[in-house]
Formats: sequence, structure tokens, C-alpha cells
Amino acid sequence: MKKFLKTAVFLILAAMIVNISSVFASDDTDNTMVSVGLYYGSSALPTANLENHQNQGYSFGFYDANDYFVTIGSTTHTQISVLKTQNIYLKDRLYYDSDPGNEDAIIGCYHLQLSESYNSFTDAQSVAKQIPDAFPAWIDGDYFVRIGAYEDRTAAENAQSQLDQETAIVGTSSKGLIITKTKTAEILLQFDGNGNKMLAISPGLDKNPKPITWFKGYRYYGTFLYDRGSTGNITVCNYLPIDDYLKGVLPYEMSPSWPLEALKAQAICARTYTVASCTSKHKSEPFDLCNSTCCQVYRGLNLASEQTNRAVDETSGVYAWYHDKLIETYYYSCNGGASESVNNVWSSTANMPYLASVVDPYEATVANKISGYYWTKNFTKSDLTNRLRNRGYDCGTIVDLRVLEYTEAGNVFSIAFEDDKGNTYPFTRERARTVLNLDSMRFHIDNGSDNQYYIDNGNDTISDISETYIIGEDGEVVSITQGDVYTITASETERLTKNAGTKGIFTVTGSGKGHHVGMSQWGAYAMDQQGFTYDEILKFYFTGIDLY
Ligand SMILES: [Zn+2]
Repeated sequence: MKKFLKTAVFLILAAMIVNISSVFASDDTDNTMVSVGLYYGSSALPTANLENHQNQGYSFGFYDANDYFVTIGSTTHTQISVLKTQNIYLKDRLYYDSDPGNEDAIIGCYHLQLSESYNSFTDAQSVAKQIPDAFPAWIDGDYFVRIGAYEDRTAAENAQSQLDQETAIVGTSSKGLIITKTKTAEILLQFDGNGNKMLAISPGLDKNPKPITWFKGYRYYGTFLYDRGSTGNITVCNYLPIDDYLKGVLPYEMSPSWPLEALKAQAICARTYTVASCTSKHKSEPFDLCNSTCCQVYRGLNLASEQTNRAVDETSGVYAWYHDKLIETYYYSCNGGASESVNNVWSSTANMPYLASVVDPYEATVANKISGYYWTKNFTKSDLTNRLRNRGYDCGTIVDLRVLEYTEAGNVFSIAFEDDKGNTYPFTRERARTVLNLDSMRFHIDNGSDNQYYIDNGNDTISDISETYIIGEDGEVVSITQGDVYTITASETERLTKNAGTKGIFTVTGSGKGHHVGMSQWGAYAMDQQGFTYDEILKFYFTGIDLY
């Protein structure tokens, strides 16, 4: 069940309960909802605790096909846990899914069930209150009263024989979940949606103030969804309005202390990315986005600041478009002087004209704030040789490294390694940077040459070829500048080898950090400081886009 729908109900609710800034009419609030996988796959949990500090209680339910929250039941407890319905052991107020020995209680997967079904949670709950260890259960649409949680059938049978009421021994399916009062074996509800419905827990019986819930050390807005995943453990998702989600993303993408217009530009990048990528990743999972760098890092509200929240709220509903299609909002730390066309970085066939190269006059004005903005890296011949061999190239000793081609904006498009056998190894686009593990594609290489050219790898030399010309076979006179040059001696043709790096060191000096495609974050910072607004920042880095 994917969750990515516009929910009018939520909009109305949000307008009622959230203190929306008077600057914005309530109908400007973006009511797009997103579900985010917090624990899933191999990280799915056997048990998951929730803790609510500022609002009392929780509602239990599920989302129907129209994305309405259907309430099953509720509790006034502020600390609850969701457990998979396997044998769970309670020891020293902690839950274990394998026997820790000397447990205080077992919350087992066998139960006794009264024969009757009930119309509501309240009805089932009031019956359950009359019977020790009884609790309400919602099993695929029906309410029941169940008693006890036994480790095995024998234990259930023993308990059954001592009860006056007529009961049946039941288990739950592999999709079952139990909600307990945290740190206890007290069951508040058993839920089994038979794999068709995810358990949804909405924090706060009263939605004012807007509930914030602790989960695994982080604070979150929104509802939590639970599903027994393929491992049998619990997939935990956070389901919430996109702006609440972005408040937990933005501080992980840009420092929460950065200036407002830069943060707003980043917020729009994150918002646009969220919707543009939601449909493509995690198709087989019960959520839209994960919480890691695979999608966007999302850790709830712990790092959110007044400034980051404001950046999200004040751009609510604004996305970046190119010809009515959401754009790919790439960004990076800093470009060192010019961003680069995506075609010169990742793919010659990328049809994204808005990811064009721009010469950046802003960034350098804050270079003194950027650690490592200007950088230098040295390589020895053996460094370079090992680098290529480690990548599977069967090369000789590398004797030269040079830039083959710069882009129009002055970034490096291609470089070449040359070995002592005269073989060259070119690397283009992003690989020209990554093969050397450089911070950016804006650099030049000092190959340490003393301009000695050697014939036949080093016996005879020509000291300087800068003023040397050759006559080609068609009589054309050509200047010798670079590349393969041969001499004809009395007996054979011999290759001129440039004795690059007599110092033995290749020095690469450059500026910037990152891939150069799209927005420079430090450029956004610099533009903010010069009085530009978020839309001017975005339109500078993304050519020809619209914001709405
Ligand atoms: Zn992901």
C-alpha cells in the first residue's frame, strides 16, 4: 500500500490545529503526504517503542483506500510499543525476540478467544476489562476479545481448562502485531490486517499542540505505520505531510544556521526531489522514500531550527519546473568558479537543458568561509601507476598525467595518463575527477616537467620542443606541442618520450567540492549575503526553470 496522496481532510485538520503563519492562507499549505521507511528490510525491528511527551495517548487504526485514517481504538498511555506476534520475552522491562533466560514474562503468540465478535473497540475493551489478561483484538475487520499470550499450545490449553468461559485457542497470522504498554506485558490491542492493511498509530488524542513523538532517539511529526515485512520483523514508516517531512530533511542537507534565502532554495530542491523521485525508488516496499542518502537523509526534528522550519513554511507548495516537468534538483557544496553542464559530467545524452554550465561570480566571495575551497593534491608516478592498476589497467609505469580538454566554463573534461611504453589512458567527464579522487573537476595539473624530451625512453635528449617543428609527409609544418612524436634515425623510428615529472611529483591544484551539476550550496549562501532571494538563486543555477 503506497502512501502518496493528497488528503483534503488533512488540509482542513492542519489548518485547524497548526499555527499557520498569517502570511500564508491555509489553502497555500501543501497537503501532499509522504511515507518514509525508517526501519525496513534487514533493519526491520522485532519491537518498536513510541513515546509521546507533549500530547496524551494514541489512536490506533489504518488508512483506507481513500487515505482516510480509520480509527480502530485508542489509549491514553504515552509510552507504547508495537511487537510482532511471535514469542517476545520481557526481562528487566525490555523486550527480546529470543529467550534471554530468566525472563519476567513471555508475550506469546497463542491466545484464547471468546466466541463472540463485537461492534467496536469500546465494546470489546469493556468485556476484556472483566477478565484477567484479556484484551481487544482487531482481526481483519472484526473485533474480538482475546485472553493471555501463551508461549505454546500446551500453555494455552492449560489456561483454557481453568477458564469458565468457552474459548477457542487462536494464533495470529504472520502479519499480526501487538500493541503493549511499554516495558510491560500489558496488551492494549492486537492487530492483524492480514497483510492488506498496515497498522497506523496516530500520536496524540488531542492534536493541539501538534504531536511530536519520540522513536528510537529521534523526534517526529506525523503518524507511524507498521507492517510485518518479508523477514517477519516490523517495517516502521513515518507518514506525514510533505512540509513536516522536509523539516526533518533540510537540516541534514544544509546547516540549520545558514541564512534564510539559501535555506529556502535548498528546501525547494528537497521538496522537488521528494515528489520527482517518490514513484521510482522502493517500489517493492510499503513506503515512498527511505530515510538514508539513497533518497534523502531524514532523521525527524532533532536538528530542525526555527530558520529551517521557516524556510520550509515560507516556500510551502513551491516546486521547481522546466517546461511543466519537475526538475532534477542536483546540488553540491561548491564549484570553485563554474558549475558544469550535466552532459559534461555524467552523460552526453542527458536531456536536461536546465542543468547547464554557469560561471559563478558569487562563490569565491565567501571562499574564506569554506574549508578546503582551494586545494592541492600531489601524486608520485607510483601513486598514479597503482591507481590505474588497482582499477584493472594493465599499464606500465605512469610517466605523465595531463589535462586533455577543458570545458567552455574552464572545468576539466578529460585527462590522460601515459605510461613508459607510450600507452595513454584517457578519462573523461566525472571519471577524470574520480580516478584521482579529486574534490572537484575544476583543476589544473603541473606535471613537473623540465621540458626534457627523451628519445627511446631516455638515452638521448632534446631539451626543449617548444620551438621545434616537424615536417609532415604532405610537407605541412606542424608545431610539436604534445602527444606522440617520433624521430627517424638511421636505423629505425623511435618515439620521443616526455620526461614528465623530473621532480617525480604531479601537483594538481583546484577549487570547489562536489560534482558541479546544479546548485552550489556555498554559491547560494554567497548570493543570499549579496541580497538575492531564493528564486533568484535557483534560477541562476538552474537555467530556464519556473517556480510554482
Ligand atoms: Zn531510498
